[in-house]
Amino acid sequence: MEYNLQVTIDSDSGFCFGVVYAIDMAEEILAEDGYLYCLGDIVHNDEEVERLKSKGLKIIEHSQLEYLHNEKVLIRAHGEAPETYKIALQNNITLIDASCPVVLKLQNRIKTTHDTKEKILIFGKHGHAEVIGLQGQTNNEAIVFQDIKELEDVELPQKFTLYSQTTKSTDKFYSIKDELINRGYDVKANDTICRQVSNRDKDLPDFVKKFDKIVFVSGKKSSNGKVLYEVCRKNNPATYFISNPEDLEKSMFNPNDKVGIAGATSTPMWLMEEIKKVLEAY
Ligand code: SF4
Repeated sequence: MEYNLQVTIDSDSGFCFGVVYAIDMAEEILAEDGYLYCLGDIVHNDEEVERLKSKGLKIIEHSQLEYLHNEKVLIRAHGEAPETYKIALQNNITLIDASCPVVLKLQNRIKTTHDTKEKILIFGKHGHAEVIGLQGQTNNEAIVFQDIKELEDVELPQKFTLYSQTTKSTDKFYSIKDELINRGYDVKANDTICRQVSNRDKDLPDFVKKFDKIVFVSGKKSSNGKVLYEVCRKNNPATYFISNPEDLEKSMFNPNDKVGIAGATSTPMWLMEEIKKVLEAY
C-alpha cells in the first residue's frame, strides 16, 4: 500500500542563532586543528553531536576539565559558571566561548541583581547547564525551582526578583509570577525567555493546526523541545515525538495524510529533511 503522505517542514524550525553560532565556531576550529574539546554536549541533539564527533569533536565532562592543560575548549551556547573560567585560567586552557549572547546578557543581569543584594529566584531545570551557569552568577545563592510546588517547602524572602531560564514556557512563567503575587510576595518578574523560543510558542499553534499529523523532532534532553512538543500536542493531539527516523512507524499515519514536521531550537534541519524523505517514501 502506498501512503502518499503530503509532508511539510515548519520553516521556523531548525537551529536558533545561538546554536548556529556555536556549531559554526566548532566546525571552523575542527577544520583547522582536526579536533576540539567541548564542555558537555554541544547541542541537545544526539544526531548532531555524532556528526560533529566524527569530525573530531571530543565531549568532556566538567570533572575532566581540571585534568586538562594547554588545550582549546569550546563553551557551548548554554554558557558556563565563573568557576569554569577560573579553572581554564589555572590550566592554561584557551576557551572558545560560544556562549549565546542572549544567555550572556541574562548572566549579566542576574549578576547585577545579585550585586545589589536582592534575593533571586530562577525558574529553570535543576542540573541544566544554562541554569548552573546562571546560578553561578549568584555564588549559588539563587533559589532554583522547576515546579512551583517545590516552593511550598521553602521559606522565601518577602521580596525577590524572578528570572527564567531562556528556554522555559512563557505561559508557565507568567502563571508562576501571578501565583507568587497571589501568595502575597513582592515579586519583580523579568521575562527572560528567549524570543527564539517564545515566538515559536506563538507561531507553532497555527502551523500544527493545518495538518492531520505532526511529527515533532527533538532530542530527549532538550528543554525547549519539551516545551514546544507540548505546544504542538495541545493544538494538534495527533502529534508524535521522535528523535530520529528509526522512531517513525507506519502505523502512525493514514494514506493521504497531510503531515507537518517541526522541531526544537536544537534540531538540525538536515535531520528533519531526512525524516521528510522517509515519510515520502512510505
Ligand atoms: S534558544 Fe535563544 S538563548 Fe538559547 S541558544 Fe538559542 S538563541 Fe540563545
